Amino acid sequence: MTLNIAIIGGGIGGLTAAIALRQKDFSVTLFEQAAKIGEVGAGLQISVNAVRVLNALGLNPQNWPCSKPKSVTLHDYKHGRIVAKVAMNSTADVPYLQFHRADLIENLMQAAIKAGVSLKLGTQVSNITDKAEVADQSFDLVIGADGVRSTIRDQFYDAEKPRFTGQIAWRALVSSNDLPRSFSQNTHVYMGPNKHLVMYPLRDGKLINIVAVEERNTWTDEGWNHAGNADELRHLFSGWCGNVTTLLDAVKDPIVWGLFAHPTLHSWIKNRLVLLGDSAHPMVPFVAQGACMAIEDAWVLADQLAKNADISVALQAYQAIRKPRATKVQETALKSGRIYHTANPLVRGLLHTGMRLSAQMAPAVMAGHYDWIYDHDVTAG
Ligand SMILES: Cc1cc2nc3c(=O)[nH]c(=O)nc-3n(C[C@H](O)[C@H](O)[C@H](O)COP(=O)(O)OP(=O)(O)OC[C@H]3O[C@@H](n4cnc5c(N)ncnc54)[C@H](O)[C@@H]3O)c2cc1C
Repeated sequence: MTLNIAIIGGGIGGLTAAIALRQKDFSVTLFEQAAKIGEVGAGLQISVNAVRVLNALGLNPQNWPCSKPKSVTLHDYKHGRIVAKVAMNSTADVPYLQFHRADLIENLMQAAIKAGVSLKLGTQVSNITDKAEVADQSFDLVIGADGVRSTIRDQFYDAEKPRFTGQIAWRALVSSNDLPRSFSQNTHVYMGPNKHLVMYPLRDGKLINIVAVEERNTWTDEGWNHAGNADELRHLFSGWCGNVTTLLDAVKDPIVWGLFAHPTLHSWIKNRLVLLGDSAHPMVPFVAQGACMAIEDAWVLADQLAKNADISVALQAYQAIRKPRATKVQETALKSGRIYHTANPLVRGLLHTGMRLSAQMAPAVMAGHYDWIYDHDVTAG
């Protein structure tokens, strides 16, 4: 049966779902509040589990502007001493990629247009019902892909209030022209008391992306794009090793994002309304999986709608497949932030020694810590 489907939200999840659904011959209208793609959002790591989906959709994302990291190196903050180094992209046939969010969105949007999705840009939807009506238009199904601050989730689901995790993420992009030529083009994580900083290249090394996380007692708002103060960021990380200082010296316009933990939703389905991506399972960024989970959701939802003539059966199957995995990733992400930030020097020393020994004596174990995330292939089902 050809369903007429509305998607609210043209982020990573909404656009991927639109492409996947069009490939199954469903009719798709996507509503996005932004009038055009901005440079908002900085870097996104897209791991093999999500790249597999984009490949299965025929998109070949490795041909889009991106970087392909050779390794991730963990360092102690003060002298930059290496705690562990894990090789990446050395053998895998499916690559692990790093994108500027704007490049990923732009390419997904072009693919959606090519696939025949009806795009309604500059359209903020406020009037929907769980009978699949959007602004007085009737559909067979509405997909809520409206992100971490989903109003659809607030309006239709029994969502408990999110809890501030006590952590703030600073995000910034630095042009490689503003750095010494010898500056590393690999992925590095620096771990210190109550803070950590991740740096990785984007657009084939033309930009270096920074995510710096600090702990704070209070924060008021969740979401993108609060302007931060570059001097405050530098002050927070003063006394950190040379690589961090050199990079932060070149930061001009950081943005700050308060990190919130969202209690798991009881259900993602409300009659003819279903959630996908951050609106269903927002997560803190410590395993870099929010967008990847949205991409996996998109594939499974389109697949189940194509396999089941009864929409309710398809939605139940989608939820049964996706909810346990997304919830486990959500919980894992929440725990991971704390490990990086151990303040007690003795405990930190022990943890770092453990990581160093694991990397030397059992590199496969160290590298394989998140295999259950990366090896998963939703396209195989
Ligand atoms: C610091 C940080 C680093 C991160 N790093 C990574 C990473 O490396 N890898 C990774 O996988 N994830 C990462 N994430 C998470 C990732 O950004 C999100 O999980 C991902 O963007 C979720 O995709 P989505 O499509 O669900 O929502 P979004 O991408 O947020 O898209 C939602 C869309 O809905 C639109 N919208 C909202 N309301 C309406 C409305 N009423 N009408 C019309 N449109 C509407 C918005 O404009 C937006 O375009 C990170 C997050 C943070 C904070």
